[in-house]
Amino acid sequence: MASNTVSEPDKLPHFLFQTKRNAITDDYEVRTEKLGAGINGPVYACFDRQTGQKCALKIIKDSAKARREVNLHKKASECPYIVHVIEIYENKHSKQRCLLIVMEYMAGGELFNRIKRIGVEGSFTERQAASIVHSICKAVQYLHSLNIAHRDLKPENLLFTSNDEGAALKLTDFGFAKECSDSVKTLHSPCYTSYYVAPEVLSKQSYDKSCDIWGLGVITYIVLCGYPPFYSLHNAPINGPMSPEMKRKIRAGEYRFPDSDWNTVSREAKDLIRAMLTVEPESRPTIEEVLQSTWLSKFAEKVPNTSLNTPAVLVEQSEQWTDVGAAIRETNAYNRMLSVESEVQEISLDNNLLFRRRQKRQNTAT
Ligand code: ADP
Repeated sequence: MASNTVSEPDKLPHFLFQTKRNAITDDYEVRTEKLGAGINGPVYACFDRQTGQKCALKIIKDSAKARREVNLHKKASECPYIVHVIEIYENKHSKQRCLLIVMEYMAGGELFNRIKRIGVEGSFTERQAASIVHSICKAVQYLHSLNIAHRDLKPENLLFTSNDEGAALKLTDFGFAKECSDSVKTLHSPCYTSYYVAPEVLSKQSYDKSCDIWGLGVITYIVLCGYPPFYSLHNAPINGPMSPEMKRKIRAGEYRFPDSDWNTVSREAKDLIRAMLTVEPESRPTIEEVLQSTWLSKFAEKVPNTSLNTPAVLVEQSEQWTDVGAAIRETNAYNRMLSVESEVQEISLDNNLLFRRRQKRQNTAT
């Protein structure tokens, strides 16, 4: 696996913490066992040689973007609702300079697989759904308090610590996360995952923490019924991120609560979803307001224990979800490209501006 140590590359953002430069294999036994597949490749299992503790290892090519991911994940990782980063190594792997993120091992796996399992064993209730949404909101609350927007909230990035009943749900993958500010909207790059994307992202307007609230709205909807609010299998483009019909629906905030799945779901849950899926980002609630909502503030006592159709729908539609998963991965790759392009564009626009200013100064000087 990863071996040789590396020297400090030029002109990359600095790490905000101590990294390790010795070969990871000195300290960890790295297995070929794959814990999951992401857009950056597989996440592997590894074992601490001293304690025997099982951990997860994500390997990413060193770059400015990768360093931002690592810095932001590490910064946020003390939160009990965010996957803990144990160590970062800078190693060479297949002649490539890489960052190796050693994380706590999340033995309970991805959110939807667990909901499916719960459905097989018994029933999955609205109160359990509220507890899941509450955990995700706590992660987002922590991030937003640090002025970090995650920008890629989706079920694959939500993992359980174990298969136990009381297992914690934690957020991971800071590949699209950005530091932002309360007053100025600083997030410009058009990065999104089709089913979770907010309308202002599609319109390429500036967007910020309110994108995460939209993503939360989408996840809450799916957790309560098993399918996404904005969905169109028709006219799905082969190379593009999503169909024009789906774009239109998202822009118009056009979705429904079909009676067959939603008539037993509480009004408070639907009210919260409506608020989170408000098209205008300024009108969406903040994460604090979401947590203070009637549905979430006292979920453990107040939310009904009504059974939901979610596990059955997730199982029934698993074929479609495979397609959705593939589409999400494709969209992610496409978005990364767009994101890079938009950064390049921004830099060249900035450069043009600098050039014009320099010329203006020169003209006034002569
Ligand atoms: P990428 O940024 O390449 O998409 P992710 O960080 O999203 O990678 O991880 C990809 C998948 O690997 C996750 O969806 C999950 O199934 C698995 N995975 C990631 N981190 C862990 C972990 N700490 N423990 C167990 N599995 C993990």
